[in-house]
Amino acid sequence: MLTGAIDGGGTKVMTGLVDEKGNVVSRRVEGVPTGDIAGYFTRCVTMLCECVSEAGVTLEDLRGVGMSIPGMTDGKDWVYGSPSAGWGSFSALSLLVPLLGLPKESIRLENDINACALAELRYGGGGSDFVWLTISTGNGGAVVANGSLVRGKSHCGGELGHIKVEYDSPELCGCGGYGCLEAHASGPAIARMCRQAGLDVDAAGCAELVRAGDPVAKEIYGRAGMYLGRALAQLANILNFEKAYIGGGVSRSLDLLLPSIRETFDRDALPEARKALIERTHLGYDASLLGAAALFE
Ligand SMILES: [Zn+2]
Repeated sequence: MLTGAIDGGGTKVMTGLVDEKGNVVSRRVEGVPTGDIAGYFTRCVTMLCECVSEAGVTLEDLRGVGMSIPGMTDGKDWVYGSPSAGWGSFSALSLLVPLLGLPKESIRLENDINACALAELRYGGGGSDFVWLTISTGNGGAVVANGSLVRGKSHCGGELGHIKVEYDSPELCGCGGYGCLEAHASGPAIARMCRQAGLDVDAAGCAELVRAGDPVAKEIYGRAGMYLGRALAQLANILNFEKAYIGGGVSRSLDLLLPSIRETFDRDALPEARKALIERTHLGYDASLLGAAALFE
């Protein structure tokens, strides 16, 4: 049976139908502006309906429709705002139920990084104790412990990007705090370090310089890796996870970050916790879409 999936990104939307094995049998990808929330959701549903037509089924034939959201959500109905999409609080079901014409029991929501972790649990290498961390415009995170997603009391469990990793020269984070992982090891943080060092490149450009042997760029990637290692080691000492999966655009250059991640991790994590593997997700850009479908597993 197929499940409808909507990966509602802050800049790009992907929709698809996913079978039981995690194969995407029909998909649409489009840039959709987030400024008008109702317009955004309408476009998402239209794209999903195109996938449904293409597959020769109807919405009623699906197990349900799951949607990943680029912000905090209670996983049932409410979205508590999304800084990347510029959204405040609203009820997603009040938009999705009339647009889809399905009962609310057939519609499920999840935060996008939590969805990535659920996809890893259902379709990836998973295991039952792991963390998921993105290195992208921010550092999103999710925690799976004993086979369950850790949501927390107020749905903000697993916000790994705001672990404090720098106390001596902390940078201001988007959350209002100082010294967060996101302020020191996200794509924009790497770009800032480049600017401060007189290099006119973004994180991807910096990676190219590292590969070309530039010592300043190498030091910047080393520093970002050190911060990632600090955050992961603190988590490992609390959770004793088996694996850390790294996703997001900057994870394409994980090989450049991994030596300093590992060096810091192995120094700061307890001997037992240190056995954890740190690797790039194999789910690629489909992680969040597959996670939206995994809400019906
Ligand atoms: Zn922060």
